[in-house]
Amino acid sequence: MFENSGRTEISHLGEFGLIDHISKSIKTHQTSTIKGVGDDAAVIDAGDKFVLISTDMMVEGTHFDLTYTPLMHLGYKAIVTNISDIVAMNGKATHVLTSISISNRFSLEAVEELYKGMLAACNAYGVDLVGGDTTSSQKGLIISVTCYGEVAKEKVCYRSGCKPGDLVLVSGDLGAAYLGLHILEREKRIFLERPDFKPDLEGNDYIIQRQLKPEARIDIVKLLNDIGVQPTSMMDISDGLSSELHHIAKQSQVGFTIYEDKLPIDPIAYQRAIDLGIDPSTAMLNGGEDYELLFTVSMNDYEKIKKEMEVTIIGHAVDAGEGLHLISKANNKHKLSAQGWNHL
Ligand code: ADP
Ligand code: MG
Repeated sequence: MFENSGRTEISHLGEFGLIDHISKSIKTHQTSTIKGVGDDAAVIDAGDKFVLISTDMMVEGTHFDLTYTPLMHLGYKAIVTNISDIVAMNGKATHVLTSISISNRFSLEAVEELYKGMLAACNAYGVDLVGGDTTSSQKGLIISVTCYGEVAKEKVCYRSGCKPGDLVLVSGDLGAAYLGLHILEREKRIFLERPDFKPDLEGNDYIIQRQLKPEARIDIVKLLNDIGVQPTSMMDISDGLSSELHHIAKQSQVGFTIYEDKLPIDPIAYQRAIDLGIDPSTAMLNGGEDYELLFTVSMNDYEKIKKEMEVTIIGHAVDAGEGLHLISKANNKHKLSAQGWNHL
């Protein structure tokens, strides 16, 4: 099992290092376990199809701030982000379990708001809430959601199937959720200094909505299926494009060349980034929480994608030895680190 003695700081490993460390000691016992730790969801053989299972926790103070997050939105987001992990396996979400840890700071009405949001998401995505757990907490709110889904066996899509030469695509636009968070944090700081202050959220509807009420791209998975394109790899963009590209690169043993001028951003988000003094490309590469899909397809599928889908080709996969690079607008080649890329 674990052979450490003494004390090792978690910060030495980081989140992904810690998960790697834990997973090294995991042995599976069931022949039905097709994929355990390491993808957006676990994959279990259920006979005629695969069942997908994913879980995520949201902790007050770490993942959300109730000064500017309405509980209804929080409930909606907690469900949608889990559905997004099932979608990222090319699957369809079917059931959720929702667990909450609450202190006496929260009233019945507050919990009702949270569940109104959760149930609105369940209704919107046709998912059944079938259980959970309730415990008390000392102070903050913790929400844990486990999502089940299913996928036809031949359709399951891992992070590991990308080949050199494949095209890299993203759905929708990137960076807006991160910029929305910036605006909300800015308004909170001003509010704490001057409680009579009215928040100025004008013109920021889109980016704030992207932060507070994300959606899972079930439409993309449906369209890929309709036009007969099986992605070679796929994941959802929760931590940021750069970080996700590194996950696919590692698991598929490829490198990537990405073009800065191809990265998709909403025009308002672009302008807000400039206003806030944030490099728009940094917001797109490092931002995260947009819950768009990052996927790769074989070059043979290029025509179908171009004709039928509104997605953006941002680059292509290369041999692992070539590494991960961003070709800047000025046509310079920069190494792409997991934290992304900085102009300086
Ligand atoms: P996501 O951003 O899609 O939620 P994570 O980075 O949280 O993915 O998790 C990556 C992988 O590691 C997943 O397969 C997840 O199930 C697994 N994982 C994360 N934390 C733990 C843990 N504490 N124990 C076991 N597996 C874990
Ligand atoms: Mg997770």
